[in-house]
Amino acid sequence: MPALVDTHTHVQMRQFAADRAAVIRAALADGVTRMVVPGVDVSTSRDALALAREWPGHVFAAAGTHPHDAATLTDEALVELRALAHEPEVVAVGEIGLDYYRDLSPRGVQREAIVRQFALAREVDRPVILHNRESHADMITLLKAHAQGLRGVFHCFIGDRQMAREALDLGFYLSFAGPVTYPKNTELADVAAWAPLDRILVETDAPYLAPQPFRGKRNEPRHVALTARHIAGLRGIPFEELARATSRNAATLFHLPDAPAAFDSAE
Ligand SMILES: [Zn+2]
Repeated sequence: MPALVDTHTHVQMRQFAADRAAVIRAALADGVTRMVVPGVDVSTSRDALALAREWPGHVFAAAGTHPHDAATLTDEALVELRALAHEPEVVAVGEIGLDYYRDLSPRGVQREAIVRQFALAREVDRPVILHNRESHADMITLLKAHAQGLRGVFHCFIGDRQMAREALDLGFYLSFAGPVTYPKNTELADVAAWAPLDRILVETDAPYLAPQPFRGKRNEPRHVALTARHIAGLRGIPFEELARATSRNAATLFHLPDAPAAFDSAE
């Protein structure tokens, strides 16, 4: 089975406190040989880096402040994130973004935080991982104004072809998570079938958003195969082709090295 990359998985979080190593080992044994673990604030970014150091070549970190936590992005926090982002195991700045659905931070604070982190990404020469919920128009405006030349991905892309087109036109990748497998999301399925094969990624967003048939349960990295298989079906191409393409795209965007050759699942 060809290897997959789970490009967005929060296995550093407390939901995996009891069985984190087992969850990672299960993913590796199932062919999910590389994963990117984004932070949502300084402390979870630090934890992501520690995990990357525990699993060299398999786990990579991203450092950033999520829009829900935008108010925590003080000058001191930014200094700390900058130090983390310089580390070789940190392959992106993220996750960062806007969330006008839950509005857990004032929108002005969210916008200020994302713009400061665009500057950070430019400074450390890393791509950005974007969280974008009910905020598409502002996201596109901010990207055009402040992110010229930055590379990145719309993580857990939700939207129609028009929104996808705008992201693609800015040079960004689209990453699909469990919701693309939910039967009612026909518009999203249409985008996953239509988007250029060299611009799509797959992810779990674990512990959230488990794909069918695990919807509602704790998600974990090995389930990215279900999402990938579903998208291959939507596109009418072999799973192997989808897996190869999305892994190549992830390696290109995040500059990931090849996974270490021999992973012994019995170790
Ligand atoms: Zn996330």
